[in-house]
Amino acid sequence: KNILVILGFSSVAAVIALIAVGLTQNKPLPENVKYGIVLDAGSSHTSLYIYKWPAEKENDTGVVHQLEECKVKGPGISKYAQKPDEIDTYLAECMQRSSEVIPMSQHHETPVYLGATAGMRLLRMESEQLAERVLAEVSKSLSNYPFDFQGARIITGQEEGAYGWITVNYLLGRFTQKSGWLYFIPYKKHSQETFGALDLGGASTQITFVPSNYSIESPENALEFRLYGKDYTVYTHSFLCYGKDQALWQKLAKDIQDSSSRTLRDPCFHPGYEKMVNMSELYKTPCTKRFEKTLPFDQFQIQGTGDYQKCQQSILELFNTSYCPYSQCAFNGVFLPPLHGSFGAFSAFYFVMDFLNMTSSEISSQERMVEMIENFCSRPWEEVRSSFPRVKEKYLSEYCFSGAYILSLLLQGYHFTDSSWKHIHFMGKIQDSDAGWTLGYMLNLTNMIPAEQPTVAPLTHS
Ligand code: AMP
Repeated sequence: KNILVILGFSSVAAVIALIAVGLTQNKPLPENVKYGIVLDAGSSHTSLYIYKWPAEKENDTGVVHQLEECKVKGPGISKYAQKPDEIDTYLAECMQRSSEVIPMSQHHETPVYLGATAGMRLLRMESEQLAERVLAEVSKSLSNYPFDFQGARIITGQEEGAYGWITVNYLLGRFTQKSGWLYFIPYKKHSQETFGALDLGGASTQITFVPSNYSIESPENALEFRLYGKDYTVYTHSFLCYGKDQALWQKLAKDIQDSSSRTLRDPCFHPGYEKMVNMSELYKTPCTKRFEKTLPFDQFQIQGTGDYQKCQQSILELFNTSYCPYSQCAFNGVFLPPLHGSFGAFSAFYFVMDFLNMTSSEISSQERMVEMIENFCSRPWEEVRSSFPRVKEKYLSEYCFSGAYILSLLLQGYHFTDSSWKHIHFMGKIQDSDAGWTLGYMLNLTNMIPAEQPTVAPLTHS
């Protein structure tokens, strides 16, 4: 009987053992992935991006993707100059979210970068001390989390342009050297070219592209890269004060200087729209310095008239095209080589054109676009408001100005034409990752973009 019990027991044990072996064999191996966090401290807001990639493939192109974007509630960090002690609470929610999204075992190895852009460049122009204080508070706060904090700094306009260009081309897979016979078919050759990058923020705007065999006459606009075994000479420029919010401040400061009354009839706002503006706020930014004038009031009222043509004329006065020390310029004496190739236009270029239903490349004739904006700007404010009850009023009231500004910047500022317009692709995301400078920044700082094409690992039997 005992033997029978032992036999019975051992067969049960054997079955259990077999099941256990089976289970372990089918169990997926633990994911070998890495994470990285980049905070984009923009002029109007901060966004935190979490990226994820397979550890063993980190030098391949296109493998890093955005896992999540967390929008920090509140304004941009430059607005905390007078209340730096609130920065910790400001960042807490999105940092907490990162701790939940990224597995705890990975926290210590996850790098965190914060890059501040034109809002902080402007604050630094007003006061280096205040800018330093804000960055110090941000750094103090971010080092309190279990992640591997790598620093908070103001990135240059050149970097902002360059990293935006790297992001777009990395996500579009433009850096890979396609091999095989298909590459030798002539029409395929063009598809190997990189995309240019057009970025519009609140305080600055960037244009970055590879010109076609054209020398870059101003060294400050030239970047040299060697990526995946190929050399690139890239043109970039960041126009400070030409982001859409600062461009609007500039326009208001310019227009109010010639006004003797406390009301400003403004063609870039809808008829019936009214808003009070404080002179102190208008003159707070360094971008309005050139239009500053002592006026006998400390507030004025904008009254919209909704006239696109007049709005465009007023915007054009912000672009000085009367001098150019190079063979050709964009505006304000800034060198711009002839446009070349396709462009990805993202951030506020995308938000605004998407709202206005103008992202389709079919709407390429200037007449058609003008007609659409003209019609939108002329709609009474109350009607617009009730048609879009869910759109934030600040954005909604400014789409007329922003649309007119984008057309002026691209057509008159950068010299896009009816025929080159169709090469502009308005894009918010590329394969679920946001187009913007943050991904390129992280790829660069974590050495994930090799200068040389990685050699293909030899096939093995294992
Ligand atoms: P920044 O904060 O410098 O990155 O600039 C972002 C710009 O995009 C600011 O001018 C914002 O007002 C603007 N923006 C963000 N979201 C939207 C949106 N949904 N519609 C229109 N403008 C937007």
